[in-house]
Amino acid sequence: MLNRAIEEGEMQKTVLVIDDEKAILRSLKRILHHAGYKVMTAESGSEALQLLEENRHIRVVITDYRMPNMTGGELLANIKQRFSDVIGIMLTGYADIESVIAALNSGAVYKYLTKPWNDTTLLAEVESAFLHCQELDKLRSNSGSLGIKNLLSRHDVMDLLGQWMSGGIQTTAVYLDVNMFRSYNDSLGYEVADQILIALAETLVKNLPESALLGQMGGDEFVMLMPEVCSETETQNLIETLLLPFHKLQNIAGRELYVSFSAGYAFSPDDGDTPEALVRNAQAALFSYKRSGSKPFTRYRSVMNAGSRELLSLRSDLYQALEKNQFTVVYQPKVSLSSGLIVGAESLLRWQHDSLGMISPATFIPLAESSGLIEPIGDWVLATACSQRRVWQLEGLPSFLLSVNLSGRQLHQKSLAEKVKHILELAGIQPTDLELEITETFLIQDIDSSVELLNELKALGIKLSIDDFGTGYSSLSYLNRLPIDTLKIDGSFVKELPQCRDRVDLVRNVIQMSHDLGMTVVAEGVETQAQLDTLNTLKCDEIQGYFYSPPVSAEQFRVLLENQPLVGKPYQP
Ligand code: C2E
Ligand code: CA
Ligand code: CA
Repeated sequence: MLNRAIEEGEMQKTVLVIDDEKAILRSLKRILHHAGYKVMTAESGSEALQLLEENRHIRVVITDYRMPNMTGGELLANIKQRFSDVIGIMLTGYADIESVIAALNSGAVYKYLTKPWNDTTLLAEVESAFLHCQELDKLRSNSGSLGIKNLLSRHDVMDLLGQWMSGGIQTTAVYLDVNMFRSYNDSLGYEVADQILIALAETLVKNLPESALLGQMGGDEFVMLMPEVCSETETQNLIETLLLPFHKLQNIAGRELYVSFSAGYAFSPDDGDTPEALVRNAQAALFSYKRSGSKPFTRYRSVMNAGSRELLSLRSDLYQALEKNQFTVVYQPKVSLSSGLIVGAESLLRWQHDSLGMISPATFIPLAESSGLIEPIGDWVLATACSQRRVWQLEGLPSFLLSVNLSGRQLHQKSLAEKVKHILELAGIQPTDLELEITETFLIQDIDSSVELLNELKALGIKLSIDDFGTGYSSLSYLNRLPIDTLKIDGSFVKELPQCRDRVDLVRNVIQMSHDLGMTVVAEGVETQAQLDTLNTLKCDEIQGYFYSPPVSAEQFRVLLENQPLVGKPYQP
């Protein structure tokens, strides 16, 4: 029993209105008709779907939320699936706001209006929906540089933002960046890397919210544009939904790849009132995001520009350091006390800044942590050190355990174990060749999650080391719960050996208990013969420190590998 009011004539600008209350249908029809639209009406979701099936020219629907059998949210989700060209506007009472937000986040709803509505606002939204249709049609007939329909070029992005902004439309720009994309270029070559980009862009486009468009800003950077602004939580949820397909391994170009994104966003006009400013600030937010809870996507804030100018410029330089190839990894040997042979090497990051020279990791690691950059940087260190390890292996040099530092922030990444596995595979080294150093301070923050996380990492077959032992909680009581292979005694303890008796006793106890738990003990920061002798008496297993070698370049480390056992000498500062 269809209740229709089909207007004949021009096929464009037809609005379908759905409400189970006849009075509301009549009122909406009158307003829209008066404004020059063709109007069709339906009293239920199923009736609306049938009308859409029969009238493919309908592009905009306005639906009530609360209806028997099928809610407005369910209807619009249905419409999004079956009629992807149709744009949905929802009318709702305040009581249903929660459900409407869920529907908004699912991407099926273009806009929502609360009842009782304001006629002018309603008409403005309907007009904006039709404008959006036109843009979609225009854009769908063009192709972006990756040859994907709907994917805009940088130029298109700026144009479109310009149009929206001059039309007074509030706009959201979400800047997306593929973490560690360079490693694909490096390890798989540009052709495969391009195939990966195409697959990623296609997945993103398929998964875009209703009103959104995607542009490629160059290489592995994308921007998602929406002609609307919602709350920060809603925006974060939208981003999370957009990136959901990437939580699992991707099958691309015959490979299983783990791909992750970083994202930052900005709203116009508040966060930028020109297309350039909006995009630039969304990008700034991408790099400066501070993780709130587990959500690594943050809105641009002007405070990102506050704070010490020096740190700020250092931080902004940090964004580019990877691109500009300013990072290197140096290696410091861990030497067996009994044999003098190199049994391991710690990878340590170095930043060669254009104008400031070498910057210590003690300065920039915290900066990288607070800005979220530690994730791509940490990925780079891991990938670089692992490929270097592979090179040495292929050269037939003696084998050793490679260590890489992992910051607390990196441990928060989703699917860290997957990522490590992936990097090992790309580099072509065995899991048993890798050890991750994690600081004690981080591990004790949440023992239960640490146990879970470490077990996941252990399951890959890699080794785990507890770093800087003695600087934090310094208790061995929790250690038997963690699957740790190695304990590193912090340099500050070693410094006071052998003159401080208390320290000697403490280090003796730590070594004994670690051995009881089956762990290997490494002493850091060993500089003098006396320290070495004491550690030898205390049955420490390995020594790392200037006594044998400072951290050195890959080339210099090769020389060390070729000239074992090492002959140490006391370090003179
Ligand atoms: P760490 O993990 O405790 O690394 C050991 C630090 O002690 C290194 O400082 C090393 O150069 C220094 N060291 C080694 N032997 C001696 C010695 O005999 N005497 C003295 N005085 N120092 C010695 P570095 O390279 O400046 O790194 C500082 C910290 O920065 C590291 O402490 C680590 O926490 C962090 N870091 C370095 N590279 C990375 C990285 O790739 N990722 C992460 N997340 N953190 C890193
Ligand atoms: Ca370390
Ligand atoms: Ca350490």
